[in-house]
Amino acid sequence: MQLFWDKKVETMKPSELAALQLKRLKKTVHAVQQVEFYRKQFSDAGISASVIKSLDDIQKLPFTKKQDLRDGYPFGFFAVPMRDIVRVHTTSGTTGKPTVVGYTRRDLDTWANLIARNMTMIGIGKDDIFQNMVNYGMFTGGLGFHYGAELIGMTVIPSATGNTRRQIEMIRDFGVTAIHCTPSYAMHLSEVAEEMGESLDSLKTGIFGAEPWSDTMRKTLENRLGVTAFDSYGLSELFGPGVAFECPERDGLHIWHDSYLVEIIDPATGERLPDGEQGELVVTPLVKEAMPLIRYRTGDVTMLMENGCLCGRGKKIARISGRSDDMLIIRGINVFPSQIEHVLLRIPEVGNQFMVYIDRINHLDEMTVEVEINRSYFSGELADLAKIQKKVVKELHDTLELRTTVKLMEPGSLPRFEGKAKRVIDRRGDI
Ligand code: ADP
Ligand code: ZN
Repeated sequence: MQLFWDKKVETMKPSELAALQLKRLKKTVHAVQQVEFYRKQFSDAGISASVIKSLDDIQKLPFTKKQDLRDGYPFGFFAVPMRDIVRVHTTSGTTGKPTVVGYTRRDLDTWANLIARNMTMIGIGKDDIFQNMVNYGMFTGGLGFHYGAELIGMTVIPSATGNTRRQIEMIRDFGVTAIHCTPSYAMHLSEVAEEMGESLDSLKTGIFGAEPWSDTMRKTLENRLGVTAFDSYGLSELFGPGVAFECPERDGLHIWHDSYLVEIIDPATGERLPDGEQGELVVTPLVKEAMPLIRYRTGDVTMLMENGCLCGRGKKIARISGRSDDMLIIRGINVFPSQIEHVLLRIPEVGNQFMVYIDRINHLDEMTVEVEINRSYFSGELADLAKIQKKVVKELHDTLELRTTVKLMEPGSLPRFEGKAKRVIDRRGDI
């Protein structure tokens, strides 16, 4: 097994790590000069690549936004000639037109190593049989995990998405020990396994990511699938998955500081925020060749945690609460869809599937939550339904401080998702 990363970097002394970061940052700032966008941005700001003398000098550089990448569509951000690009992926396009990302041969190795590093951290390896249940096309989660898992010698089953019954048969027949998918799909998988009467006893590890999910969802998935569940975070612009990952402590995610320079900013002012304060994650990747970026605004909301980790791998980020543009502002109150999920999953009388609709009625924002009832709590009496509905309204109100309309739905009637879920439909703009 050839591992390309230097294991020492995980437990480096802060001064050694800072020196490595600075060396790589300087290299990155030089590399981006190959990109017209950055040449212009630097010259507009009256700065040159030599402005970086210390890590703090990064604050002198402007941010790069998703819209900039959209404007550069398709290949405007590539810093190497096209003949050195060996693969192209795109973002999922969750918030608009997908953007293109490119990789050199070396980038693909670096990326596979980052994934391998994460998987090694949670103790899976050669003896594991790994079913990768995400899209294998343009989405970075498929091939990304695939090559990382192969690198550490796992037995990889590239099952991709779809045909859930077949996926479950493979888990059973092949003795799969570890799976990777979105938490939404994991939930669906558990429902179908239950219907089929399959207990999926071989499963031990679940790696879930690509969308926000709550700790209550973690408990539900762990109970239903019999796995230990780990959160995996990444975005295509920074290679894809592998950017940050939970260690066995499962209290925040390790982001690899030798490969990614992390800042948390106030999204409104761009000011840097101290550890322990929530804001937007801004990342300067330090090891990318084909598409280096400076101070990339991920749009994702998290914070740098104040305390280091018991495992000694350095500063973590908190689990992502969502994208800053996922945050709903309803009658002036901020709500993240993950908070709604958290409340609903705690109520045994309702199932795990829900949809949220936001409308503007008579100039007022109205939130409607559709949630499936849990058949085992429903006697068939109408009075029961009213009681359950009242309970859901109250629990949502207690947490969100918001009045909602709750509609109880037949089990199995709401949509299921194979990839990233889209559970919130904001119809206010349509009016
Ligand atoms: P898109 O941004 O179009 O969805 P990607 O497929 O690159 O394209 O997805 C990256 C985004 O997915 C991240 O910026 C983040 O919003 C979300 N994401 C990925 N992993 C997680 C995670 N573990 N928790 C919360 N959100 C996540
Ligand atoms: Zn740790």
